Amino acid sequence: MVAASHGGPAGDGPGEPAKDVNGASGPAQEPTPTAEEEPPEEPRDAAAAAVVAGLESEVLVVDEQPRYHVVGCRALIGKALIPIPVREAVELGFTPCGWCTPDRTLAAQHASVR
Ligand SMILES: [Zn+2]
Repeated sequence: MVAASHGGPAGDGPGEPAKDVNGASGPAQEPTPTAEEEPPEEPRDAAAAAVVAGLESEVLVVDEQPRYHVVGCRALIGKALIPIPVREAVELGFTPCGWCTPDRTLAAQHASVR
């Protein structure tokens, strides 16, 4: 009985199972953001919502989408943007985007500038 003294399970092998890496021909499982895709709604934060409901800070809305966003959100790429005060967006019934979370973002900004 010959016992090979290899303690590590995968530390000494010169071969790496590189079968899946067959050239990056396309990320098939990545959901490509299309024009149709809408971001989810930001989870309600009552405290943040109360703060932004009184803010004049500008947010961006997209025509035909019920969300409002902060600058830089990927949902805004290639869209016609309509800047309005967040207070107005709330009044008009827009809901905060779950990607850029404008409620939390603006509330946090405002909280530090008291
Ligand atoms: Zn957004």
